[in-house]
Amino acid sequence: MSEDCCQGYRGPGRELLERWRVGVWSEVRVETEHGAFTGIVLPRSETADDWHLVLKLASGYNIGLDVHAVRAIRELGRREAHYHIDERSFPRDPQKPFVKLFGTGGTIASRLDYRTGAVIPAFSPGELYGSVPELAELCNLETEQLYSVFSENMGPAQWIGTAEAVAAQIRAGADGIVIGHGTDTMHHTAAVLSFMLQKPPVPVVMVGSQRSSDRPSSDAPLNLFHATKAAAESDLAEVMVCMFGPTSDEYGLLHRGTRVRKMHASYRSTFRTLGDTPLAMVGREGVTPLRTTYHHRRFSTRGPENATESARVEALAEFHCVPCFDDRASLVYYYPGMKADVIDALVDSGYRGIILAGTGLGHVNRPVYPALKRARDAGVAVFMTVQTLWGFTQMYVYETGRAIMGMGVLPLANMLPEVAYMKLGWALGQTEDPEVVRRIMLEPVAGEITEREPHDGYLLYQGGLPEMDQFAMQHRK
Ligand code: ASP
Repeated sequence: MSEDCCQGYRGPGRELLERWRVGVWSEVRVETEHGAFTGIVLPRSETADDWHLVLKLASGYNIGLDVHAVRAIRELGRREAHYHIDERSFPRDPQKPFVKLFGTGGTIASRLDYRTGAVIPAFSPGELYGSVPELAELCNLETEQLYSVFSENMGPAQWIGTAEAVAAQIRAGADGIVIGHGTDTMHHTAAVLSFMLQKPPVPVVMVGSQRSSDRPSSDAPLNLFHATKAAAESDLAEVMVCMFGPTSDEYGLLHRGTRVRKMHASYRSTFRTLGDTPLAMVGREGVTPLRTTYHHRRFSTRGPENATESARVEALAEFHCVPCFDDRASLVYYYPGMKADVIDALVDSGYRGIILAGTGLGHVNRPVYPALKRARDAGVAVFMTVQTLWGFTQMYVYETGRAIMGMGVLPLANMLPEVAYMKLGWALGQTEDPEVVRRIMLEPVAGEITEREPHDGYLLYQGGLPEMDQFAMQHRK
C-alpha cells in the first residue's frame, strides 16, 4: 500500500492498515473486542498517537478505535470525503429585502482539518450561503469576506475595517447586515460595533457557531438562518448577536451588542444577555420581540414597507459611523493579593486608560491604592466595573469604595467589563483629553449602562425556562 494510503498513520496504526490492505478513505467494517463498527477510515492527525484507527461513522460522528482491540477489517468500498462546498448564486427577487453577509472567520466558517486534527477557517461566505440554500427564501443575499481569522485575532484594525464596511453597505441601501464571526470574542466586537455604528437604520446581526459545519451537531446552519431572518425581516435596528437560545434548536435569541457575553466554553446556547432581558426570539416563523424598548427599523428598501426617499435620507442623516480605537487601553481583572506593580506597569508603558473589574460592588485591595493615585496624577483615566457581571457598582456603600473613588476612579454602573474596555479604546481614539474620555464613558451610547435591571432579569434562565421546568420536574423528590 502506498505511503499516501496511510496518511498520518504511524507504528501500530499503520501496520494494522497494511495488514488488512485498507487505507485512508476505505469504507470498512472493523471487528473489535468491543463490537463491530462500519465507517470510513479518516486521515490521522500528524501529531496524534499511533495506536488509534479513526472512523467516520454514518451518523457523521468520528470514533477512534484502539488498534490492539481490532480483530479484523474488511473493505467494503472507497469513499473520499469532500469538504468543499460549492459557491452558489441565487436568482434575484426584487420583492425580497437585500442583506449583506460579511465573513470574518471563526468556527462558522471552519471545518476540521484531518491532517492536523485542528479546526481551520475554510469557508468563504459564498460557500456558507451555498450550504444553507433556505437563505434564498428570505432575501437577496450578497456575501463578502473581510477576514479569515479566529476571533482572538480580531483587533482594532479589523473592528474599524468591519465598521466601515458595514456603514458603506448601510449607506448603499442594505436592508440588513449579517456578520459571521468567531464566538470567542463576538461580544467584544458586538460592543465596539455598537459604539462605532450609531443609530443604524437597519439590523446589524452578528452570528457564529460553536461547532464547525462538518459536524452533525453544528449550529452553523440554524444560526445563519436565524441571523439572516432577523437582518432581512426584523424591526430591530441595533447591533445584535444572534445565537442558539435553549440548548436544543427550538429558537435563537437576539441579544443587544452591549449586554451580551459568551458564558459557556462549549454549549451551543453559550450567549446570554446580562443585566437585562434578550431583545427578541427568532424562529422559522419570524422574529418575536421580548421587550418594547429597542430601536426600530427605519427603512426597508424592498418588500412591503418600502421606504420613501425622504425617510431614507432622514434615517441615513441620523446614522453615524465613528470608527476609531486607541489600543492604549487595558482591562485589569482584580484578584485578591494583587500588587501595585500591575497598575504601575501599565502607567509606565504609556497606557492612557484602565478598566478595573473589581470585587463585589467595585473594590480592589489597599496595596493597589498608591498605584491608582499615580495613575491619576499621570493623567490615566481609571474606571471601575464589577466582576460579578450582574448588578451595579456601588462605591458609596463601603469606606473602601469611597477611598478608591477619592483616587479618581470612576464607577461605570452596570457596564460589563469587556464592554467598558471596548468603549474605553473607542473613547480614547476620539480625544487626547482625559476629561472628555470620562464624559464619553459615563454617557450611555447603546444600552451599555441601564437605569435598572429588570426585576426578573437575573432569575430568568434565559432561553431555557421550559427546560428549567422540565429539569426541576425530573429531579423532584
Ligand atoms: N475559536 C473560535 C473563534 O472564536 C471559536 C468559535 O468560532 O466558536 O474564532
